[in-house]
Amino acid sequence: MKRILVCPVCKSKDLELDAGGYTGKYYCKNCGYIGSYVLEMTEGEYRQLIEGEEIEKKKDDKIKPKGVRED
Ligand SMILES: [Zn+2]
Repeated sequence: MKRILVCPVCKSKDLELDAGGYTGKYYCKNCGYIGSYVLEMTEGEYRQLIEGEEIEKKKDDKIKPKGVRED
């Protein structure tokens, strides 16, 4: 099973090994995160993670409604 590396900060897959892998740290091209800790998961797990994030965002919208009030 192929695993992908995911940024723990922004959940981007756009990671590369810093300095050609010499330091063993990863660099996120999306948010600029540099560190040896990254998430490692399969494509399926990644999809679940992203879907979970989107559900969280929808919950926030319910807690803090924007726009027209119904009363
Ligand atoms: Zn990132």
